Amino acid sequence: MIRIVKGISGLAASGENNDWQSVAGQLKARIGDSNFRSWISPLRLMSVDEDRVTLAAPSRFVRDWVQSNYLGDLLKLWRAENSRILLVEIVVRAPRRTPLRTGRETPENVTQTLNPPIRRIAEPVVQPAVPRRASDRIDSPLESGYRFDRFVTAPPNELAFAAARRVTDSTEVTFNPLVLYGGVGLGKTHLLQAIAWELRDKHPDRAVGYISAEKFLYRFVKALQSRETAKFKESFRTLDVLLIDDLQYIGGGEATQREFVHTFNELFENGRQIVVATNRPPAELTELDERLRSRLMGGLSIDIQSTTYALRLDVLRKKVARSAVKIPDDVLEFVAEKIASNIRELEGALNRLIAHATLMNSEITADMAQSILRDLLQAHEKRVSIEDIQRSVARHFNIRFAEMQSARRAREVARPRQVAMYLAKQLTARSLPEIGRSFGGRDHTTVMHAIRRIESLQGEDSMLAGDIERIRNNLQS
Ligand code: ADP
Ligand code: MG
Repeated sequence: MIRIVKGISGLAASGENNDWQSVAGQLKARIGDSNFRSWISPLRLMSVDEDRVTLAAPSRFVRDWVQSNYLGDLLKLWRAENSRILLVEIVVRAPRRTPLRTGRETPENVTQTLNPPIRRIAEPVVQPAVPRRASDRIDSPLESGYRFDRFVTAPPNELAFAAARRVTDSTEVTFNPLVLYGGVGLGKTHLLQAIAWELRDKHPDRAVGYISAEKFLYRFVKALQSRETAKFKESFRTLDVLLIDDLQYIGGGEATQREFVHTFNELFENGRQIVVATNRPPAELTELDERLRSRLMGGLSIDIQSTTYALRLDVLRKKVARSAVKIPDDVLEFVAEKIASNIRELEGALNRLIAHATLMNSEITADMAQSILRDLLQAHEKRVSIEDIQRSVARHFNIRFAEMQSARRAREVARPRQVAMYLAKQLTARSLPEIGRSFGGRDHTTVMHAIRRIESLQGEDSMLAGDIERIRNNLQS
């Protein structure tokens, strides 16, 4: 049984309270008594306003936890009660243990008259971004962990990170729009949301909206259906900072693109900051409206490059350090080496190891990791031939394929050849003598020397490390 203490403002009507009771009851069945007591009982229904439900949490901690663990369930269950609901938001309000008396008491004398000591009736709102600003309407919920301090930086993403930080450090709009582009799972959404978190915390006066292009489309179509496009547009006009994720998906109908271009231009011309994430550089987004594309091209575009071994290992180490389990470094090295596609998959692999370590209550070894991750590892071990490797490496370094077998020892061909030998050892099951034979009949000690050399160079030369990662990713994709 949950108790609903009515909110200070926006008292929820009793029908809505019934909805909430029902939602909470169903959630309880799903998550169990103790989770329910810890996280859901403390919530109060503040208001139901058209398409949005506002719940109050007694602390930021509870809010963050509910947001990252139960928000999806809450939304689904609410929508089952009331299909108009599109958004469940959670604000932080300190609990009130007594009903509000008359409206005339000042907070001070309330403190005195209430007994035992209860602090002020209306605690200051901890999260500043709660007022019903029009701009809040477009917001999508943010992932609680997608903050700057959780973003591991390394050469492939350093520039993007710095540019994102810059947006939050200064109110001056220097590069507009800022476009962050790169492949999946490399941290674009993380950075965009980190900007939103940071601005909410540090500059609560600035109206920030984070929305994916898909959601923009959806909202726009809904606004058209309900003849509320004016209201829809208005919610964007009031923004100081607009963060649009996965802009490549804006595609779709002409009307939506036109609307988007209008919104974009208006914000842009009023000097509002726009940050966009896409999967390709603006010049390649040929499906986009020409005007939009040229706007994007007029801003600053920064790519997030494929991960390097060092970045992957760093991400793993930091994530393990935050978890309660211990995973030996050699296991992390193994995972960082084998799962080279992107950080999302890397996290997936690590989560699996953490889950196993927790369940079995024992330390994970490299052998165990290999079997726990077998399917993931197989997916990555696409068969490549030595010749594939030689071709990719030659293309990458812009040398002739024949140089892979030639006897020339000039650095500009010798180094790529060593890289190819190194990758041949890593990506194929060939023995050293076999590899040597494929490189113009070289001795296996030459191959071994090449591998050692590249291994040690990778640590010092991040450009080379990046080159190798890119070649490897191309070969395996
Ligand atoms: P994208 O939007 O580029 O597809 P995401 O931002 O969703 O990628 O990132 C995928 C996952 O990897 C997220 O859980 C994110 O937190 C994590 N991640 C990506 N880059 C980093 C990084 N540099 N440091 C820590 N975590 C990262
Ligand atoms: Mg994303």
